[in-house]
Amino acid sequence: MTTAQAGSAATAALNTEQRAFNFSAGPGVIPEEVIRIVQQDLWSLFGSGIGALEHSHRGKEFDRVLEEAEADCRRVGNIPDNYRVLFLQGGATTQCYQVPMAFLPEGGTADYFETGKWASDSINQAGLYGKAHIAGSSKATNFDRIPDDADIRYSDNPTYVHFTSNNTIMGTEWHRMPPTPPGDAWFVCDASSDIYSRPIDVTKYGFLYAGGQKNLGPAGTVLVIVRDDVLERQVRKLPWMLDYKLQAAKESRYNTPPTFGIYLMGQVFKWIERQGGLKAIEKYNKEKAQVLYDAIDATPFYTPHARLHDRSLMNITFKTPSDELDKKFSAEAEAEGMFNMGGHRSIGGMRASMYNAFPIAGAQALAQFLKDFAQKNG
Ligand SMILES: *Cc1c(COP(=O)(O)O)cnc(C)c1O
Repeated sequence: MTTAQAGSAATAALNTEQRAFNFSAGPGVIPEEVIRIVQQDLWSLFGSGIGALEHSHRGKEFDRVLEEAEADCRRVGNIPDNYRVLFLQGGATTQCYQVPMAFLPEGGTADYFETGKWASDSINQAGLYGKAHIAGSSKATNFDRIPDDADIRYSDNPTYVHFTSNNTIMGTEWHRMPPTPPGDAWFVCDASSDIYSRPIDVTKYGFLYAGGQKNLGPAGTVLVIVRDDVLERQVRKLPWMLDYKLQAAKESRYNTPPTFGIYLMGQVFKWIERQGGLKAIEKYNKEKAQVLYDAIDATPFYTPHARLHDRSLMNITFKTPSDELDKKFSAEAEAEGMFNMGGHRSIGGMRASMYNAFPIAGAQALAQFLKDFAQKNG
């Protein structure tokens, strides 16, 4: 077989191989339709004879990729004109420090909700630049909930209020906005694991960020949506790459931007629109989650981690009666084509993640498995 023949044989296999149900918490599932388009565009983008990974970031093809990605992102999220859309690098974890570095004055305070590992990481990193006041916490109950309004205490004069809209590891989600912050503080939201999983009112936020690998496609690339007046409030001189205002002025391409990440996110925005937009996506996500929660609630064999009304639509966390059965659950699920359900080491148990692109057939297959496994092992 020549190299070329081996190559096309591999491509044929790639295109026909059965795909598993991937319940991974991140990187998560990418829509199959998008993967097909990407396969084509990697070969040649817009009929240029040059693939999506190979175009200059200053060339007209990439101009179009970037323009469309931003325009589609804006249309999908109904983002007003007084917000900038940035495509940055370093994952959501970079935002943990980049936000306080840019906005938190020395000696200043920002308020944070301690609702899980990622929220705690943000609190830790804010401490490098100022004071992080904990406005609400669910640490005492191992992050099984979102704090109730009655238990929330803002500091007197926070610069901003940060919250994690979906706690990926714990399986809890804010189904409301936190109470209005005092003074002219604005909301900063880590929406990494539920961005564009439901309609969003961007006008309620000053700053939103999301790592790509859960609902938007690629790891590494971060979507930032920031209000113009917030951009003006950077409090210190920042390295070029971390300067939001500079990145906004340079359309996210101060240096060579993550061209493939931007291209792929752009394709995912187009896919969301083809599904009918965020309302349709939300409806589908609710249906999927309900299928699983119903199966979990149907038997005392399973213990859900999250408090009922704080349950996440994206990450569904539960335990079987023992660690041994958890392991058995994972192994047997894998044998049936359902992968990546081991819970994070901080809470153990099981976690089934079902982001936008995850098919309802996977939820139904897992629901049946949940029922059978409980019957056999209960
Ligand atoms: C996955 C995740 C992160 C970390 O993202 P990286 O891209 O790995 O830095 C941060 N916050 C939340 C809510 C997440 O789900």
